Amino acid sequence: MQKLLFTPGPLTTSKTVKEAMLEDMGSRDHAFLLAVKDIRNGLLELAHVSKEGGYECVIVQGSGTFGVESVIGSVVGATDNLLILVNGAYGERIVKMAKINQIHHEVLRFEEDEIVTAAATEKYLLEHPSITHVACIHSETTTGLFNPIEAIGAVCKNHNKVFIVDAMSSFGGVEMDMQQMHIDFLVSSSNKCIEGVPGFSFALCKRTELEKAKGQGRGLSLDLYDQWNGLESNGQFRFTPPTLSIMAFRQAMKELEAEGGVKAREARYKTNKKLLDEGMAALGYQQYLRPEIQGHIITSFLYPTDKAFNFDDFYNQLNDRGFVIYPGKLSKADAFRIGNIGQIFPDDVKALVAAVKEVMQ
Ligand SMILES: *Cc1c(COP(=O)(O)O)cnc(C)c1O
Repeated sequence: MQKLLFTPGPLTTSKTVKEAMLEDMGSRDHAFLLAVKDIRNGLLELAHVSKEGGYECVIVQGSGTFGVESVIGSVVGATDNLLILVNGAYGERIVKMAKINQIHHEVLRFEEDEIVTAAATEKYLLEHPSITHVACIHSETTTGLFNPIEAIGAVCKNHNKVFIVDAMSSFGGVEMDMQQMHIDFLVSSSNKCIEGVPGFSFALCKRTELEKAKGQGRGLSLDLYDQWNGLESNGQFRFTPPTLSIMAFRQAMKELEAEGGVKAREARYKTNKKLLDEGMAALGYQQYLRPEIQGHIITSFLYPTDKAFNFDDFYNQLNDRGFVIYPGKLSKADAFRIGNIGQIFPDDVKALVAAVKEVMQ
């Protein structure tokens, strides 16, 4: 049985994306190098920027976290100071990276059910002039909220700070203009809203900032500048590339375009979200976040108050019916999560809600 993944990734992918991985591919194969080139240019286009306009796309082997660590560990120099804006587990992950990589950093924390605000960020920057870089999560997958990246980006721009955004779970499923949002580094991965399979992450970078990272990477394999330099010099990766994952991703990008681009995909995810909200509300489920700050990527539902509810049972019974949901990750409340992204369509969401109803009974 082909299960449907209502998770934050890896996600359900199309048959044709999986079929793109059926041929073994050498890392110097012309078709592979062409796919890498297409992907690098295509991703910049999705962010409404280009090489000519001063932006670069660097692909990094590994999951999304590898890409974030590559950026954080390469662009924040020895005498720089990074402000990390945190309102969930993915923000905390950047704090952990900063500690391990021995990067000067400060943390501005918000409640998990509140967004990061541009005003609080600006106040902090004014009080701490030593800060050079700011990092923030766009779609905080811990809860499902969207932080106001454009407003925070404007503050960073006004105060001359380099702005790094983890847009892992939103890029491709939310229209984003990198330049308009004043983002200097945007990171996402192969297995989220572009609907490819796991294997790599990518950083979209403002070239003038990327160039400053020369010689300051804190690891060999995660050195963002060297990785870029390798890709630029001969189109190849420095170390074994995720060949099949790249081939699948190129197919996934074609399918994104065929669907009507990011706008159309965003509309489908929003429809999924609306059907999920209505269906779950009718079954008595409460959401963790207030609707104004909730994004359309993933939703946290509070456990029902009924004492008979057992998450593992609930999960297993849905799984037996072909629906994979996701546990919660909240520090203060018991919740589970349901994602709307991947090859999931309105009828699939309706089928999930019907299965939830059946399991509850
Ligand atoms: C998925 C995700 C990541 C990356 O997680 P990996 O398991 O390393 O792929 C990072 N940040 C956010 C917000 C995410 O949703």
